[in-house]
Amino acid sequence: MGNWKSLKDVYNEALNCKKCALHSSRKNVVFGSGNEKADIMFIGEAPGYYEDIQGEPFVGAAGKLLTKLLKSVELKREQVYIANVIKCRPPQNRDPSAEEIDTCKEYLYAQIDFINPQIICTLGNFATKLILKKNVGITSVRGKLFKVGGRLVLPIYHPAAALYTPSYLPSLKEDFITIKKVIDKRIKLNIEDEVESKEQLGLF
Ligand code: URA
Repeated sequence: MGNWKSLKDVYNEALNCKKCALHSSRKNVVFGSGNEKADIMFIGEAPGYYEDIQGEPFVGAAGKLLTKLLKSVELKREQVYIANVIKCRPPQNRDPSAEEIDTCKEYLYAQIDFINPQIICTLGNFATKLILKKNVGITSVRGKLFKVGGRLVLPIYHPAAALYTPSYLPSLKEDFITIKKVIDKRIKLNIEDEVESKEQLGLF
């Protein structure tokens, strides 16, 4: 774990990171964006083509859907914080490798630590497995609330998956309603499972 004093420190280190080979093909490090005091944090997989060019997460087609889903429950992107499991684009948008995730995860953990959101929404398989620390498929856990080291985690489908498989869209919309209810405290929390965490992961 890095010895960072603020999110800005983490950002400055990530910006010059050369800990894995992805640094040589990236155009930009995509650290994360949004409200640093957000109640809700979304965690995607990895930057794609447009994210790499702009240095911002979720600015392509999946990002547009994410913005629409937020709007559907009266939330704005400026209210939430969005990051990815890994901060640099894998060539041809291939899946991140286990080594890349392992090398990069300390930045994500530090982001969670400093932002301290009420709820983390993991988008798709990679973020879900990393945060739940379980080898689970997204289909079996989406829409269920978990607690990891005391923090609420809601796995949901990745918006890119819903663009590819439109039949996922109703579940995704439903899960955004859950997110809104959780932050408005309009839901009785039905926790699926509690995961203790030995890793330092914010309040985890
Ligand atoms: N998909 C992701 O997982 N992250 C992005 O930033 C964009 C698309």
